[in-house]
Amino acid sequence: MATTDSPAQATMTTELPAELFQRLLDESSDTAIIIDQQGTIRYLNAASQALTGFPPAEAIGKPIDGLLPEGLAERHNGYLLNYVSGGLGSSVLGHVRDFAIRHRTGDMIPIQLKAVDLGVVDGVRYFGAFTVDMRERRAEEARNAALLAQLEQQAMTDALTALPNRRAFDAELARIAARARRNQSPISAGMADIDHFKQVNDRYGHPVGDLVLCEVAKAIERAARGTDFVARMGGEEFGMLFPDTSTEMARLVAERMRKAVAAASVTTPDGDIIRVTISIGLAALAPGSAPEPALASADAALYQAKEQGRDRVITAD
Ligand code: GH3
Ligand code: MG
Ligand code: MG
Repeated sequence: MATTDSPAQATMTTELPAELFQRLLDESSDTAIIIDQQGTIRYLNAASQALTGFPPAEAIGKPIDGLLPEGLAERHNGYLLNYVSGGLGSSVLGHVRDFAIRHRTGDMIPIQLKAVDLGVVDGVRYFGAFTVDMRERRAEEARNAALLAQLEQQAMTDALTALPNRRAFDAELARIAARARRNQSPISAGMADIDHFKQVNDRYGHPVGDLVLCEVAKAIERAARGTDFVARMGGEEFGMLFPDTSTEMARLVAERMRKAVAAASVTTPDGDIIRVTISIGLAALAPGSAPEPALASADAALYQAKEQGRDRVITAD
């Protein structure tokens, strides 16, 4: 072999016949490719067909550009020329890189590739690469990401009513409180609790109580404005956040929620019609102040609403 200027030191290979290496390449599940300094494909192993869609014999002798992503295809020959003429180094050669190959269908196939300078043979410089098909790995990553997003969503959602849960409420409160601090805008917070709900459970049983909870959740949610946030805090308690809203304005929305719940009903299998009411406590979150005292005030106002006869909205002073 008239090898000159080869960066790779051929060690031990001469002890084994070349056909072994040929067979190894033939049987590899990774793609092996060799191009010359003109960017002409000079070798592809059998595995390359899965990535390119072309039988190796059809692709050999063609420019590598046809397999490259748009944008790179036009620049690739320039890179080769610069490198070969000694002008520029290469940020690609010698490193494992995420990359894509254009399949004959036009699909871009994600690959991992390590391209190397194979050196000069008979006055021509060659470049070689092994590429790993990353389709399955990428698909698995996408599935995992979707699963994670689904789990995160579940962790923030109340399973019975499908409303955001307390964790989501706390996260939303932190988010809008930070925004209100920047904008110096008001937030109102509300706490709602179903009146005499224990009686519903005692009389109709827990499963019917669950149906009533869902109906109440729907009624409150429907009465809320698009920017309001309604969560099930646990049990038969709901939390509300009214961003950019004074307590006077929040009170109007809370009244609408109270009336919507009173108007809703659940019909039992026996034909009984169940109606419940809610009590609501409201409080203002002063811009820039910690939200906990405001939530405690809303709770205290809710307690007052219960004491004053339930089915009413009370605003903390
Ligand atoms: P008040 O008007 O003072 O709020 O009276 P109440 O009966 O609603 O209050 P209490 O706290 O005594 O009862 C709340 C009831 O809510 C008791 C509990 O069994 C019921 N409850 C809490 N979570 C659930 C649930 O997920 N499903 C059902 N069906 N009932 C629930
Ligand atoms: Mg209650
Ligand atoms: Mg309660």
